[in-house]
Amino acid sequence: MSFSNPTILGLKKSFGFGDRLGLAGPGHIAALKKSSFAGIISQQSIREMARTQRTPDEVMNAARTAIEACKYDQPWGADADHLKTEEDVKYTADAGFCFFTIDPSEFVVNEADSVDEPALNEGVAALVNGGVFDGPDWEERYLGKEIEINDGFALTFDKESLYRAAVKYARAIAHCEEMSGYIAKHSADRPFEIEVSVDETDSPTSHLEHLFFALELKRRGVTVVSLAPRFIGEFEKGIDYKGDLEAFDASLEKHVAIAKAMGPYKISVHSGSDKFSIYPAIGRICGDLLHVKTAGTSYLEALRVVTRTNPDLFKEIVAYSAGRFTTDKVSYHISVTDADVEGFVANPPSDYEKVFLDEDHGRQLLHVTFGSVLTMGKAASGQLFKEAIMENLEANADLHAEVLEKHLGKHLSLLEQG
Ligand SMILES: [Zn+2]
Repeated sequence: MSFSNPTILGLKKSFGFGDRLGLAGPGHIAALKKSSFAGIISQQSIREMARTQRTPDEVMNAARTAIEACKYDQPWGADADHLKTEEDVKYTADAGFCFFTIDPSEFVVNEADSVDEPALNEGVAALVNGGVFDGPDWEERYLGKEIEINDGFALTFDKESLYRAAVKYARAIAHCEEMSGYIAKHSADRPFEIEVSVDETDSPTSHLEHLFFALELKRRGVTVVSLAPRFIGEFEKGIDYKGDLEAFDASLEKHVAIAKAMGPYKISVHSGSDKFSIYPAIGRICGDLLHVKTAGTSYLEALRVVTRTNPDLFKEIVAYSAGRFTTDKVSYHISVTDADVEGFVANPPSDYEKVFLDEDHGRQLLHVTFGSVLTMGKAASGQLFKEAIMENLEANADLHAEVLEKHLGKHLSLLEQG
């Protein structure tokens, strides 16, 4: 049996392979085949599609082509990531996507963490008057109630934490309900699954906030297959986790307990690329209730092929990226600075692969500039970088598959080690 169309994967641990160039499928599938994970083989956010000028159909067709070529015979998923509008939903549902990640971040009020009491009260009143809650007695559902999550773990909303959670998230949750209606409408009769992501908020998602989110989704009849909180510590792009490992484990255990009790649904780890130090713990703590998303790391592996087979082209891409860095870094969570990048330009390293593909600062420089490289950047010859990279990868398809299998295989096997 083979699956030419994506399907829902349900509550089975899963791994999302973002592929910005459309040629990573064979390497991704080779790694996937050796693992116990279900694969989301087609995955791209609306933002990335815009940055790479790709359509949902192109993303889907790249996955289908790889699946056929690799004779992959397991069910596979297709994640339309970080959707914000009905238009986003229609655009991706029409291409056959069936895993929809709702991103309600525009409705999250981050300031709720810090505003004073009068402002908080005002915020809650606005929610009631605006119809986000059904009436002033909304808080009776929560206030002072001890909610048992599991044996030995219960959470209670005091007034302040309830009000802060409500002001921060209630409109976002209402938006999720609206979006889930669009997803049902545009999926026609096809089965679909929904993830909600709040991984890009300013502060980590507390356990009480997670619980509030889950209870409100339930009240509104929105069933999710996974939820992406913002975790404690730093999830920077393209590099390992930074933070206290024990605190991370303890916090994740509680998030998973809430997901089990309120769903069950999976905990989704965004910016999952290269978080090697926490993977064994993530795999162990989440078990089957786990989804991990990666994307940028595969682009960097594509560039590894370029540097090994056409070092001059790679040097041109690095130089171009350095020139784009100040503009392109906006909106990214990274630690490489303008001064670091100026340092690269002033003193080019002797080992490009090591500095730009294995070390944090170099990786992040290339990570944030992918959109410019793949849409506007040109080699000295006048050829677009994207064309030159694609030609290179097509000519070195075996090496490309090999480096991807090795690198994504490392992700998967560490997750399985727990
Ligand atoms: Zn995300």
